[in-house]
Amino acid sequence: MQFATLAVHAGQGPDPAFGAVMQPIYQTSTFAFRAVGEPGPFDYSRTGNPTRHALEECLAALEGGVRGLAFATGMAAEATALALLQAGDHIIVHDDLYGGTYRLLTSIMANKGIEPEFVNLRDLKALEAAFRPNTRMVWTETPTNPLMNLLDLEAIAELASSRSVLTVCDNTFLSPYYQSPLALGIDIVMHSTTKYINGHSDVVGGALVTRDAALGEQFYFLQNAMGTCAAPHDCFLVLRGIKTLPLRMEAHNANALAIAHWLEAHPSVSAVHHPGLDSHPQRELARRQMRGFGGTFSFRLKGGDAAVQRFLNAVKLFALAESLGGVESLIEQPWTMTHASMPEDVRVKAGITADLVRISVGIEHVDDLMADLDRALKA
Ligand SMILES: *Cc1c(COP(=O)(O)O)cnc(C)c1O
Repeated sequence: MQFATLAVHAGQGPDPAFGAVMQPIYQTSTFAFRAVGEPGPFDYSRTGNPTRHALEECLAALEGGVRGLAFATGMAAEATALALLQAGDHIIVHDDLYGGTYRLLTSIMANKGIEPEFVNLRDLKALEAAFRPNTRMVWTETPTNPLMNLLDLEAIAELASSRSVLTVCDNTFLSPYYQSPLALGIDIVMHSTTKYINGHSDVVGGALVTRDAALGEQFYFLQNAMGTCAAPHDCFLVLRGIKTLPLRMEAHNANALAIAHWLEAHPSVSAVHHPGLDSHPQRELARRQMRGFGGTFSFRLKGGDAAVQRFLNAVKLFALAESLGGVESLIEQPWTMTHASMPEDVRVKAGITADLVRISVGIEHVDDLMADLDRALKA
């Protein structure tokens, strides 16, 4: 079946109890046994819940995997995936990634004897040189936040799998609608469903999807043992959001691409980082690996920090806020907001400087969005 059909139906049929067409919210902690020694299909909601199960099946179908798991947050999904590792294991991590992942690896996992090594994975030679006998996992994120750098997932998966090393891709920025890491050879897809998958800025959630049944079973064990699962009501909201994922992604993509082209020609703008532009250094990889570009990208203002502050205080339709992927447009300065917790030298080295602005373009009418940006750029 096609993606848009799976988005509406996968994992969900009419409810067996009353024929409800929409997945009911099984807001219960526990389920009655039929008799001693005879549980029903579910017994306790940490272990399994029908609403969560429907979402998990849907996520697996959309990513083309065999098993999906839904978590309380994106970070809970990451912590569960990283629980596969043991003391003494080495993990190679792309050096340009979500700040929360960096924090989890450096301030928690590293204290448990797991050794993260940050490598620029755009350089495949650097990846090859980084493998060690105790390397268990390679962690990727593409496009990266906020500079929209791309990683060649197929090439990375090949180098890792030939050494029996697991690969993870954080697919939050594009959603399964625009990028399918499992089909490129990646073992595990991770999502913050908080972003595009739910898409309405009213839930925090996470997901893992794998194409290996045994690995899926291990994640299921860990989800239950660690208690990192998503709550039934949140699963209902994410399922509801997913039904319009294809429509929303098309709208985000079209709006963001139009705004990126327009900004590139704007006299106040010094650079635009968007993989759909001909000026993007990895334009060819973007065409090969992605079916679209999503709604989030970044650009730089001439006039640096002062110009950015003037601009951000003048926008009206764009909310000055962290996060991304919702129907409403958001804007922020990574330097003082999303990336402020990264050490200053690391930010500067990565190109995350005070002149940089990140926008999450919503699904409003593009003319209104451009008018708001234009007025604020002239403020
Ligand atoms: C938001 C985000 C996360 C973390 O997810 P939460 O739902 O906030 O816990 C991880 N990776 C990326 C790329 C994100 O944008």
